[in-house]
Amino acid sequence: LLRSFSYVCYMTKKLVFLFYYIATSCFHLLPSPFSYLGWSVYWILQGCVCTGVWVIAHECGHHAFSDYQWVDDTVGLILHSTLLVPYFSWKYSHRRHHSNTGSLERDEVFVPKPKSKLSWFTKYLNNPPGRVMTLVITLTLGWPLYLAFNVSGRPYDRFACHYDPHGPIYNDRERLQIYISDVCVIATSYILYRVALAQGLVWLTCVYGVPLLIVNGFLVLITYLQHTITSEF
Ligand SMILES: [Zn+2]
Repeated sequence: LLRSFSYVCYMTKKLVFLFYYIATSCFHLLPSPFSYLGWSVYWILQGCVCTGVWVIAHECGHHAFSDYQWVDDTVGLILHSTLLVPYFSWKYSHRRHHSNTGSLERDEVFVPKPKSKLSWFTKYLNNPPGRVMTLVITLTLGWPLYLAFNVSGRPYDRFACHYDPHGPIYNDRERLQIYISDVCVIATSYILYRVALAQGLVWLTCVYGVPLLIVNGFLVLITYLQHTITSEF
């Protein structure tokens, strides 16, 4: 437990805030080409560290952080919420993903579609530019689209959304925790909104938005590489 905590404290406190501090206090002093370079480096580094934070929250979801379930859930909830991930919502669908990976009927994400169910536009995307476009969209919007609309997710008999406590993804025992995840994501959004009002949207995008996009891209990339290639079906 102590060792797990020391990693979290190290990652969040030292690295995230160090990068943040350097970016916000020094970059505006640099002449313009260097400040662009500085921001690019900041985005990549912060994106990497925050991916680490994301992965720790994922471990919490598997109860692999400490021996205490409540500690894991609290830490996971806080870390994932700051990255706008509904912790419990994803924890449950993700667990079912691990137990059904590769199943056409029961896997939760990156579900390969049988040829008969491919969308009408798929055949137009099966060329180099189409593939690049699909990849770019997948890396930037894939994660939010999956959470909100279950894009590439398990086929349910009705609309499925990770933010909907009464949706088909969850059973009655899980619904209350889906509400809790939603409240935490809304709270983070509200804080971000206040920060945007105080510091401006450009500032928020530079400091938080772009690194978050990089985190999302990384995790889609990592998981994408681990899963089945749809065009083979
Ligand atoms: Zn996992």
